[in-house]
Amino acid sequence: MTSPQTEKTGIKVIVVGAGFGGLTAAIECHRQGHDVEIYESFPKLKVLGDIISFGSNAGRIFHRWSDGKVTARLRPLSINLEKYGFRIHKYDTGEVVYHQPRQKPDPLAPVLNGHRGELHQVIFEYAKNDLGIPIHLGQIVSEYFEGEEKSGIVLANGEKVVGDIVIGADGVRSKARQLVLGYEDKPKSSGYAVWRSWFPNTDMIADPRTKEFCENGDTFNGWIGPDVHFLFSTIKNGKDCCWVLTHRDEHDIDESWSFPAKIEEVFEVLKGWDPLCTTIVEKTPKDSLVDWKLVYRDPLPTWTSKHGRIILLGDAAHPFLPTSAQGATQAMEDGVNLAVCLKRAGRENVPAAARTHQDIRYDRVKAVQKTGETTRDLWHNTDWEKVKKNPSTIAFPREQWIHQFDAEKHAEEVFDSAFEKHSTSG
Ligand SMILES: Cc1cc2nc3c(=O)[nH]c(=O)nc-3n(C[C@H](O)[C@H](O)[C@H](O)COP(=O)(O)OP(=O)(O)OC[C@H]3O[C@@H](n4cnc5c(N)ncnc54)[C@H](O)[C@@H]3O)c2cc1C
Repeated sequence: MTSPQTEKTGIKVIVVGAGFGGLTAAIECHRQGHDVEIYESFPKLKVLGDIISFGSNAGRIFHRWSDGKVTARLRPLSINLEKYGFRIHKYDTGEVVYHQPRQKPDPLAPVLNGHRGELHQVIFEYAKNDLGIPIHLGQIVSEYFEGEEKSGIVLANGEKVVGDIVIGADGVRSKARQLVLGYEDKPKSSGYAVWRSWFPNTDMIADPRTKEFCENGDTFNGWIGPDVHFLFSTIKNGKDCCWVLTHRDEHDIDESWSFPAKIEEVFEVLKGWDPLCTTIVEKTPKDSLVDWKLVYRDPLPTWTSKHGRIILLGDAAHPFLPTSAQGATQAMEDGVNLAVCLKRAGRENVPAAARTHQDIRYDRVKAVQKTGETTRDLWHNTDWEKVKKNPSTIAFPREQWIHQFDAEKHAEEVFDSAFEKHSTSG
């Protein structure tokens, strides 16, 4: 594994969006010697969201940042299932049908699942304070432009910023996507939505029926039923509680990630289920319940603009279903790969670097995206007779080809052959 180049490449990278995708792209561009700045619309950092998962393929990326300094900050905020594992229940009887042990931990590639806002804050502060990457907050990017030699953005205040490449890491409602595609790409309903909540354990620990989840460290339980699954975890030594319930939803979609939701609707779906599920949901403070519609997009034909100087990254290029548990991780892998391609191609070959990046990433991302559907369908159409005979068939799949992947090593290895096709076409 080559160490990243610390020599400056002279490539000026503009990143739009300071989500996990944009922050990783910026950190990796910094590691590879590019000159990078981030423009983000939110005016100040807020700890938003609930549970988010980072597989070991993301842990490997985090771990390389300042030799484990960042993972050391993330670990205390993340769930620790060393003792408890993952317990999968049949929805109606509540019996544990499979006890899935925790993955064998790899200290160089830890699995880190925790509160999205808390983990995000660590990465944001690392980029800004430890590395000194300029992050311009409160800057809405209203236009993107590009030519053969340069590309850039126009901010809402009219200011123009020019660079060698713009990374549109602006999330599911990406503006950059429209420019890259030349048309508006409408999302479709996936037919599912997720109710989700994160709250302190106060009521949970006070109830004898639920206190076991908060008293002995972290826990993770799932109830699997027809077209519905309910996941419940306790985190930070049982201090915080989080549940997510995926269910059918045919309402109009909006790409916002969260709406306020009504708890009565959750109870309705849980009728006939193990009463423990309702007991858990009852503890949810009213204002902490959100309804997240799961949108789906057909894979975009391209992530790269006409001149190769604007590239989509993360959710802007490829939204994921939560059942893949890989959305944020794949956004991170994008950033690693792109930063390597830019370094290897050099400033005179930025468009070819962007196209090479897309070629390296496209099929892998598509295949990982598919796992969101396969896991959901596996759970929602469970054959309980089959599970009785072979309980591990209901396990949450942890495929090696996804989790053992080293995005940086892979990019370095395949770059030359992938670049060849684009280096002459510019
Ligand atoms: C507030 C929020 C909360 C979330 N909570 C969860 C959660 O609880 N669990 C979960 O699994 N996933 C959550 N997600 C989604 C998850 O973070 C992403 O799916 C994943 O991390 C991929 O990240 P991304 O960087 O591609 O996109 P995002 O994380 O969506 O980041 C995109 C960023 O671009 C910024 N942006 C958008 N348009 C503009 C513009 N015109 N100008 C400047 N900046 C712009 C946005 O403000 C945002 O910060 C959340 C996303 C957001 C934005």
